[in-house]
Amino acid sequence: MGSKVKKTYFCQSCGAQSPKWLGRCPSCGEWNTYVEEVVQKETKNSRLQVFATGRQEKGVANKPVLLQEVGSQEYPRIQVPGRELTRVLGGGIVPGSLVLFGGEPGIGKSTLMLQLALRLKNLRVLYVSGEESEQQIRMRADRIGITTDTCFILQETNTQNIFQQITEIEPQLVIIDSIQTLHTSYIESSPGSVSQVRECAAELLRFAKETNTPVFMIGHITKDGNLAGPKVLEHMVDTVLQFEGDRNHVYRLLRTTKNRFGSTNELGIYEMYGEGLREVTNPSEILITSRDQPTSGVAIAATLEGNRPMLIETQALVSSAAYGVPQRSATGFDLRRLSMLLAVLEKRCGFRLSLKDVFINIAGGIRVEDPGIDMALVCAVLSSNEDLPIPQNICFAGEVGLTGEIRPVSRIDQRIHEAQKLGFDRIFISSHNKKGLDPKQFSISIETVGKMEEVFGKLFG
Ligand SMILES: [Zn+2]
Repeated sequence: MGSKVKKTYFCQSCGAQSPKWLGRCPSCGEWNTYVEEVVQKETKNSRLQVFATGRQEKGVANKPVLLQEVGSQEYPRIQVPGRELTRVLGGGIVPGSLVLFGGEPGIGKSTLMLQLALRLKNLRVLYVSGEESEQQIRMRADRIGITTDTCFILQETNTQNIFQQITEIEPQLVIIDSIQTLHTSYIESSPGSVSQVRECAAELLRFAKETNTPVFMIGHITKDGNLAGPKVLEHMVDTVLQFEGDRNHVYRLLRTTKNRFGSTNELGIYEMYGEGLREVTNPSEILITSRDQPTSGVAIAATLEGNRPMLIETQALVSSAAYGVPQRSATGFDLRRLSMLLAVLEKRCGFRLSLKDVFINIAGGIRVEDPGIDMALVCAVLSSNEDLPIPQNICFAGEVGLTGEIRPVSRIDQRIHEAQKLGFDRIFISSHNKKGLDPKQFSISIETVGKMEEVFGKLFG
């Protein structure tokens, strides 16, 4: 078939390629990430046989259409069970779409995908596993406890064999677990290498587009948050879903980081339990611990994760450094940002924290990216430091700047609504957020503050 062997160096971190070895990747800046991979260059004709659909390119060229005549038609979607998955997908599965489902190993990606396969009872689903045996998947399905007679399991890693089975079963949805285990005969490098992952994904993409069959690919993410191997996958697929969470905690966040068919700010929340993953429809209620007595070191933040307002409990413990060098530790919060906030408290607000140990915890093991959590966090730190509890009916929504000023946060009305819904009586927000806000619209009392000192004054003063 007239092919020639080609060798290329790939950055294992970002997927950049180079004809020669490089010590430092010019694309992502990582050192020693270039690995030689043998790539067999295939001819164009051999590509058409890849998934043996017998289809040829139709050869019909598109014609320009007047913008006004283009219908703003919604994509017809396959309805999926469950509100959370429906939400992150932007309303359901779009036929022919390629979805990348990424996350760290062991946090429940396979479980969620198998749950999806089992619940789609009117759909012929093919679940391809390169990681687990059919028996292991059967045991997992038994644990989940849903029976279906439309879900096929295939233990296979060679894409050509997979496509052969696909032509026989004609599934309406294909799930690949995982893309890193697949290999195609057209490339010689080992499974999981950048060129293999990219080529296998390219074959799945062609299959999805030509047959209009949606494909979900599970992809493992390395510790630094990159998809193992290629960032390059994210550019190829229609939708990227990210499954996050601390494997020692029960909560999992499902984020949309890319979506050609919907918004990218969507968030789904799940709770992991013995049998599988359960949807959390009202996250605020479980992320706040109800206490008989107010406790020092606890403050509630009205945050926004994705498009979803969520009230989250921040906890702080401040104590005298026992071993000379003060410790700083944060769970669910960026440690550098914590250092910054502590420096602001020290320098701008006159609190002596440099000789104290400071421990921060965000309840539920959830990682919060919204800067609107700052004010609550700072209040929790000071509450612990002064050993003065913050009344339980108060919550906070504001970013803290380098001068100790309270900066405005996005969608303040949504946060206030959520706080009100959960029965809070007072919410502290930035005075810059006052504009355009009608306090009469809310029954909760809104305290506007400009600087951290004002907050302390109102709380403890
Ligand atoms: Zn790189």
